[in-house]
Amino acid sequence: MAKIQIPKGTFDILPYGAEEPWRLSETWQYVERIAREVSAEYGYREIRTPIYERTELFHRGVGETSDIVTKEMFTFEDRGGRSISLRPEGTASVARAFIENNLAQCGTVHKFFYIGPMFRYERPQSGRYRQHHQFGAEAYGISGPEQDAELIDLLLQIYKRLGIKDLQVHVNTVGDVQSRGAYKTALLDYLRPFLEQLSADSKMRFEKNPLRILDSKDPKDKEIVHGAPSILQHLSPASKDHFQKLCHLLDQAQVPYIVDDKIVRGLDYYCNTVFEVLTTHLGAQNTIGAGGRYDGLIAQFDGPDLPAIGFATGLERVMQVMQSQQLTIPVTKRPLIYFIPLGEEAREKCFLLATTCRHNHIPVDLELNAKKVPSAIQNAIRIGARYCCILGSDELTSGNASLKELSTRHEQPIRLSNLIAVLKELNSTQCASS
Ligand code: ATP
Ligand code: MG
Repeated sequence: MAKIQIPKGTFDILPYGAEEPWRLSETWQYVERIAREVSAEYGYREIRTPIYERTELFHRGVGETSDIVTKEMFTFEDRGGRSISLRPEGTASVARAFIENNLAQCGTVHKFFYIGPMFRYERPQSGRYRQHHQFGAEAYGISGPEQDAELIDLLLQIYKRLGIKDLQVHVNTVGDVQSRGAYKTALLDYLRPFLEQLSADSKMRFEKNPLRILDSKDPKDKEIVHGAPSILQHLSPASKDHFQKLCHLLDQAQVPYIVDDKIVRGLDYYCNTVFEVLTTHLGAQNTIGAGGRYDGLIAQFDGPDLPAIGFATGLERVMQVMQSQQLTIPVTKRPLIYFIPLGEEAREKCFLLATTCRHNHIPVDLELNAKKVPSAIQNAIRIGARYCCILGSDELTSGNASLKELSTRHEQPIRLSNLIAVLKELNSTQCASS
């Protein structure tokens, strides 16, 4: 029978044996830890929602004309005949959970972050998967540009703590409803003579949602869009003021950014601020994070009328940039010692020593498989143990053994009765220095 293979566009995250560091679980744990830590410093708290929701949530939240909803959703009927979709993004679910759990009762400002898998039926390629992972943050309740600046700064701080360099922050505004109305007319007037040359998708967008043409990845569309009028010339006084204040705050906070009037973002619910973080290190998939303000969304879900803003960053792309910049990932705890028993009696002794160590928070492992000492030592080295201790009948009879440091091959004699005390001491110094 043929071997069963992983579904297209997905990948495994492994403890070892992955050729690329971004597919090692230690890399994921590190990046997730930093993202959690920095978010906590900014006052954001974790929310976890199901990985699937009623399909309708994404139709209403992400938008009927978005690429995500029209082309990319994993949608199926459950056994009860309900239409269910694997979540393609986090914002709609967080809004649903916020409303359903009445969190508005708990205060006027709410700041959340989430980490988890997202599902999009896309053409798999480097940096683009059918199951990918996002870290995202959402802030509800504050309409002022300080909130926008805080969120952009949070995203950049996470990248910075990870050591990522050479990022570009592109900031734009899509204005309020009034600004977009004025801009839409100007954009349609500009695009009309090019209508026949636009891609099929963009022809459809021309009718339904012309702003989205600015977001097209089609090269010919991009060329046409290049000469399009700028939304910045069509802003209402309120939207203009919001954007200017945001730029001022970013300047004051020394957050470098570029105003890019072609960013509109793919989702329907954005208003005013939108932003993307780009890298030159990933080839075609050059956006590592993106977000924007979506003041109307919570009310549209029949929740309270709260202003809101959020971002999401693709963790695969974050780790791939780290890999291409050869950033080091701190290693997690490795075994302090590896016990190697020779014979049945020693096996039991080693098992008990290992168990005692583990009950005392000392990371250890023991050899239960190898027939020969050299291959046992190879195993100890492979798992990154610092010391090994070989126990046979001589050691058990005399009560004397030796502790061998694997990197230096240096051996020190040790009384078995003292071993646990010595390991406790070594473990506390190892913890202090890591
Ligand atoms: P793109 O323009 O690359 O398709 P997007 O606009 O669809 O991105 P968002 O919906 O804003 O992306 O998702 C937030 C982030 O999630 C992106 O900036 C990107 O880093 C990541 N991302 C999106 N889709 C994928 C995918 N299929 N595979 C891996 N990462 C993804
Ligand atoms: Mg996309």
